Amino acid sequence: MGKKTCPVCGKEVNGRSDKKFCSDECRTFYNNSLGRRRRARNRKQLNAIRFNIMEMERADSRFLLRTLSWISKVFRVISNVTKVSSRQE
Ligand SMILES: [Zn+2]
Repeated sequence: MGKKTCPVCGKEVNGRSDKKFCSDECRTFYNNSLGRRRRARNRKQLNAIRFNIMEMERADSRFLLRTLSWISKVFRVISNVTKVSSRQE
């Protein structure tokens, strides 16, 4: 059986064949950095979701603004028409 080396510090691993790390410190360090990597990935996914929501909201507000400006235009036309018609009376 070949000698195993610790993936954290590169030192030779002695002991049971299923032992991966040379020490508890290296195992803890490895597991912590794994958790950090997972958290970073979660953060990235969260940011992507947040970005999508922001884009949707922006599209929504654009649509809302367009609708509002269209409605106000219609109201202006209507009020002009009623003004003109009331003047003619
Ligand atoms: Zn080590």
